[in-house]
Amino acid sequence: MPRSTTPQTLSREITISGRGLHGNHPCSVRLVPVSAPTGLVFVHTPTGTVIPAHADLAGDLVLATTLVKDGVRLQTIEHLLSALAGLEVEHLRIEVDAEELPILDGSAAPWVDAILQAGIHSLEGRRRFMKITRTVEIRNGDRWIRAIPFDGLRLRYVIDFPLPALGRQSRELSLTPEKYRRELGSARTFCLAQEIDQMRSRGLALGGSLDNAVVFGADGPLNESLRYEDEAVRHKMLDLVGDLALLGAPLLGLVEAHAAGHAMHVALAKAILADPSCWEWTEDAEPANVRSIFQPLVAQPA
Ligand SMILES: [Zn+2]
Repeated sequence: MPRSTTPQTLSREITISGRGLHGNHPCSVRLVPVSAPTGLVFVHTPTGTVIPAHADLAGDLVLATTLVKDGVRLQTIEHLLSALAGLEVEHLRIEVDAEELPILDGSAAPWVDAILQAGIHSLEGRRRFMKITRTVEIRNGDRWIRAIPFDGLRLRYVIDFPLPALGRQSRELSLTPEKYRRELGSARTFCLAQEIDQMRSRGLALGGSLDNAVVFGADGPLNESLRYEDEAVRHKMLDLVGDLALLGAPLLGLVEAHAAGHAMHVALAKAILADPSCWEWTEDAEPANVRSIFQPLVAQPA
């Protein structure tokens, strides 16, 4: 599956229902194809509020990514956005009838399956990329994230938890729809068992269970099995793909993250958007000559 050169939407509409991870309320999401490029646009149907998936509208980034407009909140949008961005579906109307999107199985896989079942449809025109031309970095002590000039989109992520069951995990890959589906899309969200009481006392994770999250205790995961040995860092990359969708256009660059999370992902997107001198528009995603130079130098191809 080569990277698309045209803007894409879905071939037909689909509806997915479930419950929110944090509020545990039922929610139905209708993905509606568009006839011309619009970007990804949410509609909160009870109020009719139209909320473009854009970093400028992102707020409240503790444990999930939330869009806020005219007093309406849409929480936990990142896994759907990740599936759409990962599969290069960047133009869609997303109708949501509650304030938190369904958590489903805690990964992006159910969204990926639904999108592929609906089919992907090319729109007229050329796909435009934001190509990083100068490094942009956000740093907060030992935690940091940066976007570096690079042809293609490559992600490098490191997490480092004091809990031995999680420990240090790192992964790197150049993103294509096929690699997204195979390497990242099925990785589930995770938390530490010791955090659960504290989250619940704050009204968070009320819909959380071993059916939609990996819970790490002192001796290892409480779930029966992991989908990948390093499922946690893969999920962080899944989240990063979703949060970068808030740029409003696909990115070309190497994004490196160290112990980051939603707040830093979104801060990077905001910093890129705020400084047009560090990127430029291009329609050329992967110049062939650059690909052949880079590939033999990559230590950990994925
Ligand atoms: Zn997540």
